Amino acid sequence: MNDKGWAVYWALVGLAKPWTIVSFLRDRRRAEREWAETLVSPLEDLGSCSRLSVLPAVEYYAAGKDSSSARRDLSAGHEDPSDSGEHLATEAGVSYLLRIDDKTWLFDVGLNARHEHPSPLLRNLEALGFSPADLDAIFISHLHLDHVGGPEEMKQGSFSLSAGPVELPDLVAYVPTVMRHPQARVEVVTAPRKLAEGVASTGPLTRAIWKMGPIQEHSLLINVAGKGIVMVVGCGHPTLARLVARAKAVTALPLYGVIGGLHFPVTGSRVGKGGQNIIGNGKLPWQRITRREAEAAAAFLADLDLGLVAVSGHDSCDWSLGLFQSKLGERCRTLQVGKEIVIA
Ligand SMILES: [Zn+2]
Ligand SMILES: [Zn+2]
Repeated sequence: MNDKGWAVYWALVGLAKPWTIVSFLRDRRRAEREWAETLVSPLEDLGSCSRLSVLPAVEYYAAGKDSSSARRDLSAGHEDPSDSGEHLATEAGVSYLLRIDDKTWLFDVGLNARHEHPSPLLRNLEALGFSPADLDAIFISHLHLDHVGGPEEMKQGSFSLSAGPVELPDLVAYVPTVMRHPQARVEVVTAPRKLAEGVASTGPLTRAIWKMGPIQEHSLLINVAGKGIVMVVGCGHPTLARLVARAKAVTALPLYGVIGGLHFPVTGSRVGKGGQNIIGNGKLPWQRITRREAEAAAAFLADLDLGLVAVSGHDSCDWSLGLFQSKLGERCRTLQVGKEIVIA
């Protein structure tokens, strides 16, 4: 269906259920007011780490088996999967294993669309030589199914690494909205704050999303000594410009890299027809994310002159991934399961 067709379709749906439009517009106004009224001062004692490794454990794309760069610079004791020939699962979800000096964090826990046990996340972690027992902390970017381990978890306000029992060590889970978990010590992050040495949350930013309601999303800020701030993003619902502005306000330090979901499903959705083009972009349902907006985001990133941009394919189409690549050149890459990024 073309844009006119969608406009007519949604006008009819809107007429049938006008309150859905009214409540969306109300949520959107509230979110705008919240953004305008939130004052942020820089954290004084953020500190830094000397080495950050980001290893995608769930992503839309996976590193090829012949990829010699997959899992380079491994810690001692972990096997290199590019040699083992292990199959790495892919899905339209996000989970990144972060190693921040000697600590291991899990950023989001994937989608597990088929409610499997072991989940794609657990299978990939094992193939990559890791286990949930290695974790020191979990960071959940926002309460959407592709980040909390499935639709049921989203509905229940929880998160899970797999559809069956998972042995977790005593750890803390930082979440941006009220959530619960049977094992983890859940801490709701309500404002920008330091979480560990050199690690902070942007604090939750609200975006009104059609059909799904307002969503609070926070991003992780890691200060790598000698480089600057690396921002790890889940879906990017708050918009890239606001996330960057918040990162700068929270840290008052130069931004070195942006890694994660930026939500540019311009030419197609990863989750069924229309899905991400309509849901998640903060617009009315007949309005799409345009090529011009993606081009503006690419130009914005180019102007920031970052050392690294790594974009998730879980909520950006191939056209957008190609656009970022062409505008940013060698500094830009597409995130792939098993392909480690090291900043040190
Ligand atoms: Zn997402
Ligand atoms: Zn999302």
